[in-house]
Amino acid sequence: MDLISLITYLDDHTVKLVAVSKTKPPDQIMKVYQKGVRDFGENRVQEMVEKEEVLPKDIKWHLIGQLQRNKVKYIVDFVHMIHSVDSLKLLKEINKRSCKINRVTNVLIQIKIAREDSKSGIDFDQLLTEVDAWKEYEYISIRGVMGIGTLTDDEEVTRSEFEKLKDCFDILKQRHFSKTEYFSEISMGMSGDYKLAIDCGSTMVRIGSMIFGARS
Ligand SMILES: *Cc1c(COP(=O)(O)O)cnc(C)c1O
Repeated sequence: MDLISLITYLDDHTVKLVAVSKTKPPDQIMKVYQKGVRDFGENRVQEMVEKEEVLPKDIKWHLIGQLQRNKVKYIVDFVHMIHSVDSLKLLKEINKRSCKINRVTNVLIQIKIAREDSKSGIDFDQLLTEVDAWKEYEYISIRGVMGIGTLTDDEEVTRSEFEKLKDCFDILKQRHFSKTEYFSEISMGMSGDYKLAIDCGSTMVRIGSMIFGARS
């Protein structure tokens, strides 16, 4: 599918696109920008900072990779959304840095849905025990959840993980964020499985290689 068809498909399903531009240079990002895309995702702080400096200011930057607490300060003044918040300690640091510059930061709670130990994200049962504390921070807007599935060709595994994330979202929404209308995003799905993710309730897909070509 080419980019315009992809954009049309996502529009028809009212799903937001985050174009994952990691490893890709600014001129390639500009080509996608010129087709109307404004949301771009990066997984490394340094790389995102460098691109932000040279690219148009109306780009909304999404941090989708693991974030170390000591690097929060480099991105809070411009980042649109941090998808990878998986601990209260990290959230606290984002709040502190956001407070300093008087800017509210949008975050997603990254929940562990894959079986592999290597995948990051907070365990959902643990989250439930501390979620009240997550809601206390003045300079944080919790916009929803994010998950990364197991890297597999087995569609049933991926589907069950996506369904799990949707369940987690529904439980959080019902029990803890029912009065928070902007708790509304489920960030799941990548190039290989975005249609399945949309089937399972995704509101935001993170698509890289399908738009930019394979990464070397
Ligand atoms: C790289 C990456 C993507 C995009 O993956 P593609 O398969 O290239 O679409 C999505 N989400 C995260 C967290 C990533 O690191």
